[in-house]
Amino acid sequence: MKPKTKLIHGGITGDPQTGAVSVPIYQVSTYKQEAVGKFNGYEYSRTGNPTRHALEELIKDLENGYAGFAFGSGMAAITSVMMLFNSGDHVVMTDDVYGGTYRVMTKVLNRLGIDSTFVDTTDIDAVEQAIKPNTKAVFIETPTNPLLKVTDISKVSKKAKEHDLLMIVDNTFNTPYWQNPIDHGADIVLHSATKYLGGHSDVVAGLVVVNSKSLAEELHFVQNSAGGILGPQDSWLLIRGLKTLGVRMEEHEKNTAKIVQFLSDHPDVEKIYYPGLSTHPGNNIAVNQSRGFGGMVSFDIGSAEKADELLSKVKYFTLAESLGAVESLISVPARMTHASIPKDRRDELGITEGLVRISVGLEDAEDLIEDLKNALS
Ligand SMILES: *Cc1c(COP(=O)(O)O)cnc(C)c1O
Repeated sequence: MKPKTKLIHGGITGDPQTGAVSVPIYQVSTYKQEAVGKFNGYEYSRTGNPTRHALEELIKDLENGYAGFAFGSGMAAITSVMMLFNSGDHVVMTDDVYGGTYRVMTKVLNRLGIDSTFVDTTDIDAVEQAIKPNTKAVFIETPTNPLLKVTDISKVSKKAKEHDLLMIVDNTFNTPYWQNPIDHGADIVLHSATKYLGGHSDVVAGLVVVNSKSLAEELHFVQNSAGGILGPQDSWLLIRGLKTLGVRMEEHEKNTAKIVQFLSDHPDVEKIYYPGLSTHPGNNIAVNQSRGFGGMVSFDIGSAEKADELLSKVKYFTLAESLGAVESLISVPARMTHASIPKDRRDELGITEGLVRISVGLEDAEDLIEDLKNALS
């Protein structure tokens, strides 16, 4: 099955009982048992729910994995994956992971004895050096936010295998439509489905796919025990969103290419970060491991004042956190998502006060370019 077909015919489709072409929303908590312990696949909706199961089967198919799991948010998904580890274990992570991932590792899971080291995972020697006797996994995000740094998934997976570590990839930015980390050696892939997978700024959710029966059993045990599941209504919304992921990603990509071209030619834009640019340091790797470059672009216009002026003038770019939706969004990472990082560290990374991040939506590219042109002038 080709990717766009899989989005519509993958997983479990429709309802065999009525012929309904959409999976029903099973708004139910418990299920009748014929006799004690004798039931038809479902006993209690924390353990399993048919609507959630349809979504879990779909994401499993989309990521070429063994089993899928749906959680109440991307952070619930990440936290549940970390619950596979024990007190005293250590994880090596990408240094510019999503802020919430950094926070849960350094302010919550550290209290339970799960330790982490953050390194530039685009540098394989840095990954090697961070591995300790108690390291159990490498967790990467690629491309990253907001500088779109690209880590070579195959290379890091190989290193992880050498040391008998689990390889975990946050695939939120590229989505399974453009990138399948399991095909490049990952053991676990996860998503904030709040972003492109849902795609319409109307649902908060997280998805995980594992590549083996043993990981599936362990993660289902955590999911059922800790209970951070996704409800049936939101599961259904995600299934609906996913059906159009292919056409949306293609359009995001086309719009983004035009905007990147416009920004590259603009005299006020000092620096532009996009993996699709041949000048981007991760361009070669991105071409090898992904089928597209995504709809996220960051660019530096030199100062906080200029950034503020731009934000106050744009009409179609909404000032907001989040990304990956039909509407274009704009943000200033240094003062929003990345404000908790000390200024010295931010400057070192390139997250300056003049750095603007956009999530290119599905409006007409001409309108978006016109909007940026007016706001920059
Ligand atoms: C948003 C995001 C998360 C967290 O997901 P939520 O659904 O907001 O909990 C994790 N990773 C990345 C890359 C994200 O963009």
